[in-house]
Amino acid sequence: MSLHVYNTLSRTKEPFTPVHPGRVGMYVCGPTVYGHSHIGHAKSYVSFDLMVRYLRHQGLTVRYVQNITDVGHLTDDADAGEDKIARQARLEKTDPMQVVEEYTRSYFEDMDALNVLRPDISPRASGHIPEQIELTQKLIADGFAYERNGSVYFDVRKFEQYGKLSGRRIEDLLDAVRVDAIVEKQHPGDFALWKRAEPEHLMQWNSPWGKGYPGWHLECSVMSTKYLGQPFDIHGGGLENMFPHHECEIAQSEACCGTQFARYWLHNNMVTVDGQKMGKSLGNAIGLKAAMIGDHPLLSKAYSGAVIRYYIMKSHYRSVTDFSDQQLQAAEAGLNRLQTALCELRKRTKEANADSESVQAIATKKRAAFLEAMNDDFNTPVAISHLFDLTRSVNSALSKGALGGSAAAAVLALYEELAGDILGILSEDTQADSAGGADLADGLMRLVLELRASARERKDWGTADAVRDGLAACGVVVEDRPDGPVWKCTKEQA
Ligand SMILES: [Zn+2]
Repeated sequence: MSLHVYNTLSRTKEPFTPVHPGRVGMYVCGPTVYGHSHIGHAKSYVSFDLMVRYLRHQGLTVRYVQNITDVGHLTDDADAGEDKIARQARLEKTDPMQVVEEYTRSYFEDMDALNVLRPDISPRASGHIPEQIELTQKLIADGFAYERNGSVYFDVRKFEQYGKLSGRRIEDLLDAVRVDAIVEKQHPGDFALWKRAEPEHLMQWNSPWGKGYPGWHLECSVMSTKYLGQPFDIHGGGLENMFPHHECEIAQSEACCGTQFARYWLHNNMVTVDGQKMGKSLGNAIGLKAAMIGDHPLLSKAYSGAVIRYYIMKSHYRSVTDFSDQQLQAAEAGLNRLQTALCELRKRTKEANADSESVQAIATKKRAAFLEAMNDDFNTPVAISHLFDLTRSVNSALSKGALGGSAAAAVLALYEELAGDILGILSEDTQADSAGGADLADGLMRLVLELRASARERKDWGTADAVRDGLAACGVVVEDRPDGPVWKCTKEQA
């Protein structure tokens, strides 16, 4: 099967065909940077990172654009409330752009720790104000928008296809909109393209309608098509933003240009914590930094970015991911098993060829099954289960000494392709280790074991035991066999 993706627009899995052969334009709604990232952000950006990696693995050239929202996102999605960045600046008694800088850096730090590849372009809304004004002017000129008291609204009744993504009907929108937000609007479902700024508003720009700032939806229409053209291939985001945010993006862009906006709409599902919806107000939001240092009442310990990433991919991006301490511990154990097998495989590549054809045949079969699962709308839980089936066969062959030399190297390369390049759960350090690091470890271990052997010959049991215990603390177990000692990593040496 070729790659099929679930398109929210059609509610079906469709074959993926890029607009321009060989190239993919992908836009994902980025964070509104007024606070540190939490595990909900991790789920979203790990999911789309996986897609980018897989598309590239398929030989496609991907341009990945993910914006930074630094203006216009209000505390109430229905065009009311305070700007989230400005509100944080007021609370921190600082400038909005300092808030933006602090949390943008924090966001990338966290994503780096999750091994999420950086987007090719990370445009900021505040850097694209002229383009947003231009799009608004065109929508007014074409009769899709109107100005009221310095604000400009999109007239949803003028765009016949409004609701095609979310399935909402304009007649039903009355219920969805707060009554106090509708005074200036011709229809309660109309949404703001440009908002009039009161004099005390912290972020405001000159416009043909007086001082103001752009509506949140507008930036994504402008920045996606500026860097990807229209139509472009994939628009991603969280399910919670399908309405109104994504619906409004489609209305603006398609009314403006008369062509389709994005071909495929991919939405990731949310996370829950111990089966409960996660939320700041519920007191169960888990920040990524807190999770990675183990400083959270719901977590018994720290979890690495690799464990969090791996745990997220154990469920499908369109399913709800439930986080709990217990499940993270289980994920950590699973990932350790995989890494132990890889550590052992690396060692065996230096040994004599022991070609277990059965393992190589299983590896080839499991690679095909893995890719087949990924082609089925990025089905990571199934792909990962194939990886673990293979690991069981590998471990069994390793324990019998039936895998070494070039055969071990071939199997190792397959792990680096599937678990490293595609899933991104092997860090670059770990992969680089396989070259120079393994030689060094081998040499050092030979030296340590010789010193231990000579201590034992001298009946210096204290030194011999101290060496064994010290190695155990580093995750190395030594087994004394009739033909000499054999060592084994019990955890990945990062
Ligand atoms: Zn967006």
